[in-house]
Amino acid sequence: RYWSESGIPQAILDTIDSLGYKDPTPIQRAAIPIAFGVRDVIGVAQTGSGKTASFIIPLLSYIIELPRLNPVTKVDGPYGIILAPTRELAQQIELEAQRFCTPLGFRCVSLVGGHSMEEQSFKLDEGAEIVVATPGRLMDCLDRRILVLSQCCYVVMDEADRMIDFGFEEQVNKILDALPVSNVKPDTEDSQVLTSQSKFLGGKERYRQTMMYTATLPPSVEKLARKYLRCPANVTI
Ligand code: AMP
Repeated sequence: RYWSESGIPQAILDTIDSLGYKDPTPIQRAAIPIAFGVRDVIGVAQTGSGKTASFIIPLLSYIIELPRLNPVTKVDGPYGIILAPTRELAQQIELEAQRFCTPLGFRCVSLVGGHSMEEQSFKLDEGAEIVVATPGRLMDCLDRRILVLSQCCYVVMDEADRMIDFGFEEQVNKILDALPVSNVKPDTEDSQVLTSQSKFLGGKERYRQTMMYTATLPPSVEKLARKYLRCPANVTI
């Protein structure tokens, strides 16, 4: 019942149904409507909370609505990136993302160490709506110009506290600096922030929407949030 009234596109509801996700988990119930409102989110949640679907569902809903820039070659994109601190987490996220992407015909590519750059570059050349990556490998791909993020307006940082603990702060900063600017100008009032999704998508300018997930909120993570998120809604479960 909750799902069907959530505004989630039918194609995604079908996947939710086939995965047997009867009810949303608390983080999904809280974060999905906020993300649908085109607002940045800080989610304080643990693994096992269903946090992956809580960012995959809004991200794919955004991509479904997106007017494709190049419907002929379909090599544009990625339209969304998900950053994770470890190869293992990136692969876990990719697995969940693939469950939702496959029925939609979307491609999700993971960029992590332990696979050859050639292989990953080949997959990117075929086109990918979503990229899941560790910061180190993503920076490598940007430096080698295998990947361009100019159309990537949806960003998820998963386990942001661990990304900082593992020393990825500088790389995460560089990656976010390479993306389109945040979806709100810093001096805008909160009330002006919440443009409707259609307005956001239809406007000429492309702004970034950012979701950050973390298990803890130390000052270093708050600093990252202050720098790259705009008027985020804080969801703690
Ligand atoms: P996560 O915290 O994202 O790693 O998810 C933990 C597990 O919960 C994964 O195996 C998901 O497939 C599963 N899961 C996510 N959302 C739901 C839901 N609404 N109902 C049942 N299982 C779910």
